[in-house]
Order: sequence, then structure tokens, then C-alpha cells
Amino acid sequence: PLVLGIETSCDETGVGIVRGTTLLANAIASSMEEHARYGGVVPEVAARAHLEALGPTIRAALAEASVTLDDLDAVAVTSGPGLAGALMVGVGAAKALSLSLEVPIYAVNHLVGHVGADLLGDDEPLATPTVALLVSGGHTSLLLVRDLDSDVELLGETIDDAAGEAFDKVARLLGLPYPGGPEIDRAAVGGDPDAIRFPRGLTRANDLERHRYDFSFSGLKTAVARWVEQREASGEPVPLADVAASFREAVVDVLVDKAIAACADLGVPRLLLGGGVVANRRLREVAEARADAAGIALRIPPLSLCTDNGAMIAALGARLIMAGHEPSGLGFGADSTLPVTDIQM
Ligand code: ATP
Ligand code: MG
Ligand code: FE
Repeated sequence: PLVLGIETSCDETGVGIVRGTTLLANAIASSMEEHARYGGVVPEVAARAHLEALGPTIRAALAEASVTLDDLDAVAVTSGPGLAGALMVGVGAAKALSLSLEVPIYAVNHLVGHVGADLLGDDEPLATPTVALLVSGGHTSLLLVRDLDSDVELLGETIDDAAGEAFDKVARLLGLPYPGGPEIDRAAVGGDPDAIRFPRGLTRANDLERHRYDFSFSGLKTAVARWVEQREASGEPVPLADVAASFREAVVDVLVDKAIAACADLGVPRLLLGGGVVANRRLREVAEARADAAGIALRIPPLSLCTDNGAMIAALGARLIMAGHEPSGLGFGADSTLPVTDIQM
């Protein structure tokens, strides 16, 4: 089926078009620059930006795919989780398209959409069961995907800051601009990742009992802040490259460690990565090395499908259609806290 997917859960306005598992278009507008001066995503600003960007982005996607609205078989949209006001813009537009074109609508889960991105690769199709590690500015979640359209389980998630948020906050305290991930990457060049042993959240024996697959990054952020303060107080220069590299290593170490542990515990030899933090080269390196050592097949979709986008939502919609699921109807709303077990609304 020819499916148009709309994604507006955060600061990316994404419109993608797929035919089955074939990617035809992936148009994206981002309001990131507007948020930069606030140091993070401002919900009201994001919602307004979606309203302005959605029309042009839909047109761009149709042009890129060389199709017209009349060709569409269905519309898919992110209905949660995410920023309520931002989600509502996409949901409203998708409903309007569904009504006017008289095509079914599929309201889908953003996090499961990130896993759906992998359907669009032109290599081997997504094999299940698979563990999925999703890391972005708003999420740090470890999932067990037994079946993409019917059985997704949340193994663990962050109990405070998301990994991307930690990059953003630490960048800020180091005097680097937003978004912090790429800035920390740049600052870390030439730095020693073992220079400072920053804490790995929730990895002590007693934490592991209750939080084996959960993450915590706020303690790490505080540890970096304290380390920098002490340096400054003693009048010594702050070795920016070492701090950045050591902080990044602490984040990457714990992310990969817990994901590999989940694969080993559950006997699942497959790990999928998704989310904007996958742009981090050190994360990909460490994940590749450790997955390789553990005999785990690692899958990383292209970066344009890892960050928030409409194509992954269209792909999940197409998957639901091909698996015979009923459409969502027009009675659903945006759900900012939609649990990952609710694949479709
Ligand atoms: P959501 O959480 O809903 O997916 P988001 O907009 O926060 O939304 P993305 O756009 O996927 O998520 O990712 C943005 C985040 O990724 C930011 O926090 C940014 O700092 C982080 N990021 C981007 N590049 C890198 C990098 N090279 N290393 C680490 N983090 C990065
Ligand atoms: Mg974003
Ligand atoms: Fe996302």
C-alpha cells in the first residue's frame, strides 16, 4: 500500500511516503534552530512551527515521491508519545487528509515507529525477536520487540534525563551551544575517554536488582558539573576535550552495556539502534565492537531514518495494513504519554 506518514511529536515536522517497505520520500523540516536560544525544545514554539511547516512538507514529500494525494491508500500519524500540542497538529492534519481523501487512518506509537524505520532498509528485513535501544533527546528506552505490529514490551527506560538531554545539559554547562550532542562530539576530539571516571548510572549491584534495564543520567550530569567547578575553584584549566570524551564514554558505556545484557539475558541475538543520539560515532563504534564480541547482529538504520521522521511512521502504518489490522477511525486523540505497548491507537 501507498502510505503517507506524518510525524510531529517533537521539533521535527516529518512527512514520509512509502509503498510497502519501499521508501519513496522522507521530507523533514525542523524548528531546532528556533529552540537553540532557549537551550531546549519549547513546546509552544514547536507546535506553531509544525502548523507552518506541515503544508509545505506534505507538498515536498509528494513531489519527492512523484505521487499525488489521490494515489494514497492510507495515512499514518504519530499520536503519541510526545509534546501534546505538537502531536495535535499532526493528528489534526492526518484526520483532515483521511476525511477528504476517504482513505483509512492509522494512529501509531512514535517509539515503535523508530523500530519501524528498520523496515525500510534495502538489506535483510527486520528479524524478530529483537532488542531495540532508542536514544534521543526525549527518550532512552530499551524494548523487546517480538512482533512489530502486535507485541512490543518495555524492558526499561531512563528514570530521569534522556541520553540526548544529558548531552544537551552537559554541553550547556561546558559553555557549548544547543544541540549538545554534535558539540560534545567535536569537543571530544583528541580527548582521553579514560581521563576521568564519571559514574555509570544504575549499574551497582543493588540498583541492578530493580533497574537492570533502566538508565539514569542526572547523576552523571551533576558529577560533570561538580568536577568542572572544583577545577575552576582551584584555578586549574578545565581540559575540555578530556571532560567531553570521558562524559561521552560514560553515556555510551552504560547504554551499550545494558542493551547487550538484555540480549544475553533474553537469548535474543539481535540489537537495533534508533533515535538521534545514534548520530554519535562513539556510540556506534562501541555498540559494533561489543555486539560483535557477543555474537549479536547489530542493525543501525541510516541516520536520516534514526532521527524523527515521517517515513518510519508511514512504514509502521504500511506494516499494520499488511498484517491485516483495522484502521484507527477518527475517534482517537493525541496521547502525550502513550505506552510503548500500545502500537496503534
Ligand atoms: P524525540 O525524543 O521525540 O525523538 P528529539 O527531537 O529530542 O525527539 P532527535 O531529533 O531524534 O530527538 O535527537 C536529538 C537529540 O540527539 C539531541 O538531544 C541531540 O543532542 C542528540 N544528538 C544529536 N547528535 C548527537 C551526537 N553526535 N551525539 C550525541 N547526541 C547527539
Ligand atoms: Mg529532534
Ligand atoms: Fe523520536
